[in-house]
Amino acid sequence: MINLPNPFVRADPERIDPVDYKELLLPKTMRAMVMEKQGEPLVCKGLPLPVPSEHQVLVKIIACGVCRTDLHIMDSELQHPKLPLIPGHEIIGTVVKVGAEASMHQPGDIVGIPWLGYTCGYCRYCLKDQENLCENALFTGYTMDGGFAEYTVAFENFCFKIDPVYANPSGAPLMCAGLIGYRSYKMTGQHAQRIGIYGFGAAAHILAQVAGYDEKEIYAFTRDGDVKAQAFAKELGAVWAGGSGDSAPEILDAAIIFASAGELVPKALKDIDKGGSVVCGRIHMSDIPSFPYDILWEERTLRSVANLTRKDATEFLAVASKVKVKTKTTQYALEEANEALDDLRAGRLQGAAVLVM
Ligand SMILES: [Zn+2]
Ligand SMILES: [Zn+2]
Repeated sequence: MINLPNPFVRADPERIDPVDYKELLLPKTMRAMVMEKQGEPLVCKGLPLPVPSEHQVLVKIIACGVCRTDLHIMDSELQHPKLPLIPGHEIIGTVVKVGAEASMHQPGDIVGIPWLGYTCGYCRYCLKDQENLCENALFTGYTMDGGFAEYTVAFENFCFKIDPVYANPSGAPLMCAGLIGYRSYKMTGQHAQRIGIYGFGAAAHILAQVAGYDEKEIYAFTRDGDVKAQAFAKELGAVWAGGSGDSAPEILDAAIIFASAGELVPKALKDIDKGGSVVCGRIHMSDIPSFPYDILWEERTLRSVANLTRKDATEFLAVASKVKVKTKTTQYALEEANEALDDLRAGRLQGAAVLVM
């Protein structure tokens, strides 16, 4: 008997190219919140759908977090952004199309896109495993368009697979607040037991859960008198919460500063023990007042944390899943990006602001 192929069953389901089929479903335009000039509010615009280059993917955005860094860009505290710019660097979305040479992700994959959008791989920093300092780096929502839009393109090797539990707005704050918090936390060293956190916002509320899992003691310093933020910190396991002007109740092994007030640096140095470190997690800070050498003496360390590496992202996303980090978000529609930024600026938020598309 001869087996004739059944004409009603496709022998090779791949034969009809799923990309072509999907492309029929993609719109030609998208909505985006655009910064045309620094110092001005974002403007809602209809733009052509971006086209992924060979090594990029096109991502339909589910949600994008709103970060202090977005304010620093809008307020010209960070210079030379791409203009016009779509800000936003805490993206969770679905891959809907891949570039001709892209093979790491498939349409349908859920990915997270962070601040670090591209590194060259050949500069002296890339060559010594410090790609966070790459001389030719591109940053999402700063020197490349970001996530305050319905779609974006990103280099495939800077997109990270996301645990399905975070395939929604709750995952967005992990992509910057979580990552930078985690990198700052690593800089405090594994022996730091009592850790002070200065500025209890999006980064701190994630980090408190990770540090709690590691059985560290968190001391939360908020704006003076911000009892709501102090209660929030205690809910998340902080052993103590007070104002940033208060002295620490115990001598601390390390401190992480997420607030932008430079005067917190000498304050934190006074709170830490010999050999301890103060880590500044912010991309921008006001000037640090001069301080006596005494408070740095005895091998105290003062350092900043800049950007992230892809290794940080992979490590942290695994840690977040293991710890079952839960984020607290305040959600806004895409068109409400300016309101979200205003609320963040005024300190009216607990946890993280997230735009939901
Ligand atoms: Zn950020
Ligand atoms: Zn480089």
